[in-house]
Amino acid sequence: MAGPRAGPFLLIGTNDLVGGSKSETEVRNPKQSQRKSSLKTSTQEFTRERHIAWELVVQKCATGLFLLAIVFLAGCRSTPPEPSLNRYEFRHPAMGTLFTVTLYAPEEIGAQEAANAAFRRVDALEDMMSDYQADSELLRFCDQPFGRPVPVSPDLFTVFQRAQTISERSWGAFDVTIGPCVRLWRFTRKRKVLPSPVELASAKNAVDYRKLRLDSKAHTAMLLAPNMRLDLGGIAKGYAADEALKVLNGRGIDCCLVAASGDIAIGNPPPDQKGWKIGIATIDAHANDVTRNLVLHNCGISTSGDTEQFVEIDGVRYSHILDPQTCLGLTNRIQSTIVAPDATATDVLATTVCVLGVTQGLALVESFPRTAALILTKEGERKQSFASKGFEKIALAP
Ligand code: ADP
Ligand code: MG
Repeated sequence: MAGPRAGPFLLIGTNDLVGGSKSETEVRNPKQSQRKSSLKTSTQEFTRERHIAWELVVQKCATGLFLLAIVFLAGCRSTPPEPSLNRYEFRHPAMGTLFTVTLYAPEEIGAQEAANAAFRRVDALEDMMSDYQADSELLRFCDQPFGRPVPVSPDLFTVFQRAQTISERSWGAFDVTIGPCVRLWRFTRKRKVLPSPVELASAKNAVDYRKLRLDSKAHTAMLLAPNMRLDLGGIAKGYAADEALKVLNGRGIDCCLVAASGDIAIGNPPPDQKGWKIGIATIDAHANDVTRNLVLHNCGISTSGDTEQFVEIDGVRYSHILDPQTCLGLTNRIQSTIVAPDATATDVLATTVCVLGVTQGLALVESFPRTAALILTKEGERKQSFASKGFEKIALAP
């Protein structure tokens, strides 16, 4: 069995999977020959790593967002993990990105079965929340006549509730009713021409989180205006990562981590370690540049920004994160990383902070317990970073 080493990291990327199409997982390693790895093909594509990849770079290139997380064992170089627990890694394309499960288990069969179950849960959530599958529960809900309460599944209801809480606390900077603007923006990115004022007005007209009404007793949701369309692109991956982690925990696997590229749900630390070491990428698109390393366990972490997901029109760079007030992509360069008790919270807050900007973003983050932010900005060549109060404490000992 290979021992711990400070050797090459594993760079994981996916092809463009937007739209939920499942294509073959791409695995790249600069020193492939030194690795013992195998590629398994079943109904899903899995890759297994065992005790060999001490550094792992998870790059969010599917949806293009640049969050880059480096995950490796903190302080692992001097102390080998418990002999009875082995490290395994499994990957699976879903939700337009690549999900990675890293876990410690006594044997491969149990590890593989647990990862398969976690991925099945992710796939089921994708089928519910996809904006691309016409028969997803989300789109079927949007197709119902407005003004009528519709029973929704517990998962969809929870996601709506979590989203609405942040919408209220961010004055609508985060808004899942942004669907019409997202659709218009996808078209804008293709044709590289800004929408006309008429197009913008008609899309904006259908965006207002206050017109999504939830009834927690009846477990129903209701749209209050015509032509509304919900988009869960800013929350679904974090929620799916949290749920996948629960599946692993339910099978007795506690030392584990689920990464939906930039949104990561983190369980107990690896054996004999203080936590999982996560690197925050710089705001520039150099895949391996890390600005900070954090050591985390039992929490979530997400990064949002426009480092890879953007379009340039008439010399202006627009992000894939939209300002619900303008229905346009953000034009200020900003990247926010959030640490919070779970990945649903971090996914939502990372997007929200980009819209709110530094001052309001930090104030929002500081209003939540055990929640911290690191915001990076770039104006011309001037780069700045802003940490929320208690960032060091929370990010180093969550
Ligand atoms: P990614 O999807 O790349 O992980 P984010 O988590 O920041 O990045 O989410 C961005 C996605 O969220 C967009 O692609 C879009 O689907 C949706 N979105 C964009 N702007 C907003 C917004 N202001 N509020 C809610 N969702 C948004
Ligand atoms: Mg998000």
